[in-house]
Amino acid sequence: MSNQKAAQPMTEPVYTRAPYWQDVPDAQWMDWRWQMANRLNTVDELGKVINLTDSEKRALSAKGLFRVDITPYFASLIDPDDPSCPVRLQVIPTDREMVPFASMMEDSLAEDKHSPVPGLVHRYPDRVLMLVTTQCASYCRYCTRSRIVGDPTQTFSRKEFDAQIEYIEKTPQIRDVLLSGGDPMVLAPKLLDMILARLRAIPHVEIIRIGSRVPVFLPMRVTPEFCDMVSKYHPFWMNIHVNHHKEITPELAAAADRLTRAGVPLGNQSVLLAGINDSVHLQRRLVQDLVKIRVRPYYLYQCDLVEGSGHLRTSVSKGIEIIEGLRGHTSGYSVPTYVVDAPGGGGKIPVQPNYVISQSPGKVVLRNFEGFITTYTEPLDYDPDMIKHQEALVAPRPEPGQEGVLGLLEGQKMFIEPAGFSDVHARGGAEHRLRSGELAHKWQPLGVGSINPDPLKLAEPAPADENGSDNNDDA
Ligand SMILES: *Cc1c(COP(=O)(O)O)cnc(C)c1O
Ligand code: SF4
Repeated sequence: MSNQKAAQPMTEPVYTRAPYWQDVPDAQWMDWRWQMANRLNTVDELGKVINLTDSEKRALSAKGLFRVDITPYFASLIDPDDPSCPVRLQVIPTDREMVPFASMMEDSLAEDKHSPVPGLVHRYPDRVLMLVTTQCASYCRYCTRSRIVGDPTQTFSRKEFDAQIEYIEKTPQIRDVLLSGGDPMVLAPKLLDMILARLRAIPHVEIIRIGSRVPVFLPMRVTPEFCDMVSKYHPFWMNIHVNHHKEITPELAAAADRLTRAGVPLGNQSVLLAGINDSVHLQRRLVQDLVKIRVRPYYLYQCDLVEGSGHLRTSVSKGIEIIEGLRGHTSGYSVPTYVVDAPGGGGKIPVQPNYVISQSPGKVVLRNFEGFITTYTEPLDYDPDMIKHQEALVAPRPEPGQEGVLGLLEGQKMFIEPAGFSDVHARGGAEHRLRSGELAHKWQPLGVGSINPDPLKLAEPAPADENGSDNNDDA
C-alpha cells in the first residue's frame, strides 16, 4: 500500500555541497525554498564559489543576456578550477554566448506560431504542450525557450491557464497533456495541484506528464508530499533532464527512487552539447548510469538554432555516431531516440544510422552494429488485409490535416504537394480545353481518397454485409 513512505526519510546523507556552504545546517541545505532563495547569479556571488574566467565575468556583467541563476546544490557540482567543467558550461555564460550564427532564431521551433492560446502548443494530433510558467530552478545556457524563460513578465496568468484548459476541454482529440515551461515544478505547490486536478477532470485526457529539470537542479523539491500529490493524478509520467553523468548524485538517485515508488515512470531528455556530452563514451556512461537509477533515456536532442547556443551546437553526424555507439553495444533500455526538432515547427524528427542495406521483393538485407550483414526472407504470400476485421473493432482516431505519409500509405491521398504547387505549374496560363475545372476527374486516382474508396468494390458488385467486418472507408 502507499504507506511505505515512512521508511524513506528525507534526511539522506548530504554529499553534494561546496566548502563555501559547509556551515549551513543540513535542514536548511535540504530545504528547497532555502535553495531557491540562495541562488547565485552575479560575478560576486559566483566568484565566492568558483574561480571565474575573464570570459565568464564579461558575460555575467553583460546586459540583455539570458538569465543566470544557479542553486547552491547544483553549483556544488561545478569544478571551481576547471573552465571546461561540463556542469559549469551548462549554467555559467561565457562571452561566446553573444556571438551570432547563421540560421539562429528567437523561436526556432515556431512554438508561439503554433499556439492556439498563449502557452499551449498543439503541434501533434493527440497531445499538447502546456507551458505553465517561465521560471526555472536554474537556467540552461542553451534553453530552447530563452525567448520567454527566465522573464517573470512573460509568465502565464490565471486567465491564460483558464484559456489553455478550456482549449483542452473542447478538443477531444487531445489524450496526452505535457506540462512544461519553464519548469512546472517551481510553481507554487497548490497551483500545480490545482492545474493537475483540472486536467484530470477532463474525460478525454488519458495521460498527464511533466518535463522538469528540478530533480537535477533541486532534488530536495521532490518531497514525499510532492510524490503523494502527483500520485493522485495517475497515469502521471515524468521526464527529467540530465546531460552528464556528474549530475547523477545520491540526491538525484534518492529523488528518482521516491518518484518511482510513487508510481511515476521516469524518462530522461538530454541535449547533445559540444564540449559537454558530445562523445560516444560519455553518452554510454550517462545512459548506463541513468538506468541504474531506473530512469529510461527517452530523447537525445540536437541543440536547437536558438540565440546564445551557437558555441554549444554539434553537427548532426555526431548524434548519429553516438547512436551507432549505443545501439547493440548496450542495453536497449539505455538507448534514447536521437531527434532533430524541426526548425520552423515540424516537430521532432528521429535520426539514426541506416541499418537497411538493400531490398528486393521477398528479401531485405540488413546490417547489425558489428557490421554483420544478413538477409531476412519475407513471406511472398503475406496478406496485410487478414487483420482488417480486427482493425474494424477499434475506432480510428481522427488526425485532421495531419495524416501525413501514413495517409499516402493508407490511400487517403496520392501525393503531398508543397504550397502553391499547382499555381507554379499553371505557369500563368489561362484555363484551357485540356485543363478546365470540369476535367478534374482526369486527375482523380482510382480507389484513392474519399471519392472512390475501394477499387475492388468498383470492379465487383457490392456483396451483402455478412458479419460487420466491412472496411470503415465510407465516402
Ligand atoms: C516534444 C513535444 C511533444 C511531445 O512529444 P513526444 O514525442 O510525444 O514526447 C508534444 N508537443 C510539442 C510541441 C513538443 O515539442
Ligand atoms: S530547465 Fe528547461 S526550460 Fe529551464 S532553462 Fe533549462 S532547458 Fe530551459
